[in-house]
Amino acid sequence: MTTETALRESIVRYGKSMFDRGLTFGSSGNISARLDDGWLMTPTNVALDRLDPARLARLDARGQRISGDPPTKESFLHIAMYRERQNSRAVVHLHSTHSVAVSCLADINPQDVLPPVTAYYVMRVGSLPLVPFYPPGDMTLADAVAKLAGKHHAVLLANHGPVVAGTSLDAAVGAIEELEETARLFLLLRREKTRWLTPEQVADVRKRYPPG
Ligand SMILES: [Zn+2]
Repeated sequence: MTTETALRESIVRYGKSMFDRGLTFGSSGNISARLDDGWLMTPTNVALDRLDPARLARLDARGQRISGDPPTKESFLHIAMYRERQNSRAVVHLHSTHSVAVSCLADINPQDVLPPVTAYYVMRVGSLPLVPFYPPGDMTLADAVAKLAGKHHAVLLANHGPVVAGTSLDAAVGAIEELEETARLFLLLRREKTRWLTPEQVADVRKRYPPG
């Protein structure tokens, strides 16, 4: 059982780690974690390398702020994920460069954007549907995410970036990092003659490591 204090520190540590490695920049990207009676959410307009554990937004079970700074304006994306996924304990959303690049390609499969490049992608992400583009602040984006979130813990927002849930904060961060690296590999390999994993190889990996 992770205490709220430990969760706050983990969010700050992961925020700095992801920012320092170029996975997010400016004040983009946000991280949240589920508590028994609400959520912790990174604040709006703060770079992820400058988070203060005491100032994270604390929301109640209805999504109303009860302490800390105002939450990210994208908190509705996180809550849409949690409402459809009762066993998800954390959600991470980034505008990470390679994932965003892939989300802008004209010829991707919107049902499942990336091919099975490695076993680790199959284990940590599995499949990745594309959510159509909505302008910032359009709340119908939450409905579009909710529609897919029951079946998918990772979705890619068109011309925007990935939203990934996990059964723990470690799992959510691990999955979004795997997604970003896979997007980078996909862009490197896209014009090459490539062997992706075969459907049999993917089925074998899924049997050995059922998705969490
Ligand atoms: Zn965003």
